[in-house]
Amino acid sequence: MPRQAAPMTAPGKITDCLERLKGSGLPQRDDLIALLSCADEKELKPLFLAADARRKAAVGDVVHLRGIVEFSNYCERNCLYCGLRRVNRQLKRYRMSNREILEAAFAVKAAKIPTLVLQSGEDSFYTTEKLCSLIQSIKAETGLVVTLSLGERPRNDYHAFREAGADRYLLKHETASPSLYGRLHPDSRQENRLQCLKWLKELRYETGAGIMVGLPGQDAAVLADDILLISSLKADMAGIGPFLPHPQTPLAACPSGMVLPVLTVLALVRLACPTINLPATTALSVLHPEGRKKALAVGANVVMPDFTPPAYRRLYDLYPGRTAGSEDTELIMETLKKEIICCGRTLQVTT
Ligand code: SAM
Ligand code: SF4
Repeated sequence: MPRQAAPMTAPGKITDCLERLKGSGLPQRDDLIALLSCADEKELKPLFLAADARRKAAVGDVVHLRGIVEFSNYCERNCLYCGLRRVNRQLKRYRMSNREILEAAFAVKAAKIPTLVLQSGEDSFYTTEKLCSLIQSIKAETGLVVTLSLGERPRNDYHAFREAGADRYLLKHETASPSLYGRLHPDSRQENRLQCLKWLKELRYETGAGIMVGLPGQDAAVLADDILLISSLKADMAGIGPFLPHPQTPLAACPSGMVLPVLTVLALVRLACPTINLPATTALSVLHPEGRKKALAVGANVVMPDFTPPAYRRLYDLYPGRTAGSEDTELIMETLKKEIICCGRTLQVTT
């Protein structure tokens, strides 16, 4: 695994791989594996610079903001890594009312952020009808771009949400490895997840895939396949952050993902998919106080500030440390804006 490895790649080889990756066309799997096997930050520096230059040329300096509202922490699944998993009885569960969700959407609009992300566990309390009516009210009352992240649903549901006005859907594929996927997801099938991603593309959602880096059992070859899968799915976005172990899950004793491999994957995805939207994830900021800056420097161009009301935010407990820091949204936004401008980037806001 990249995080355990001493540098395994011969000096010079990195330069050759990078030269090939900088060309157009699908990256070669062996080149990806070589770069993903390198644990020497200095050697990886040219990769990071190339990814930053590719980001600038392909999508410019703008950082897109998406306000996320985590409206339910109920989940019917049991993903081994996630604190919201069904059998975690220590977690107090919540569902936000339509009024509360709408108020949070208005707060996103008031912050001049053009996009709302509605995320939850897989919670069948929210029927297709309930969700369609919610999406319609949000669109009618706020005019925000709506991204959904609600997990796997039947094609008809995705179709209905699209008709109701949803624009984007984020469904991380989690891992390209069939065996690792099977071990981590006792109650879902990789085949179905990938089918959902294909439906979302067919229905013309802007579609997001993505992974956690540092999962137990993941190695450089698996990560290379993840990058190739993101490219072959023609994903419009990719959420890439570290795995962080949650104490009330079967993976509690596993080590966290590490910063360098996350940055390497981000940079490689930027080179493989030049126009993709890449968030600087909250999980990376939890792992490292400068995580956001680091991600923005190697290809990321999206930040997703949290607009979940603080009392609920604390309970959206995917992994430890998510809610450390200020609860004051205005302060969070000010800090964020300063940081983005400090990185020499501009901010996308509505007028
Ligand atoms: N339930 C939906 C789903 O699974 O697609 C959306 C919400 S789910 C909480 C959003 C993402 O959280 C997952 O795709 C997963 O990658 C991430 N996640 C869950 N547990 C995590 C952990 N321990 N460390 C890092 N990311 C985690
Ligand atoms: Fe549920 Fe999503 Fe967590 Fe899996 S990752 S347990 S589906 S909230």
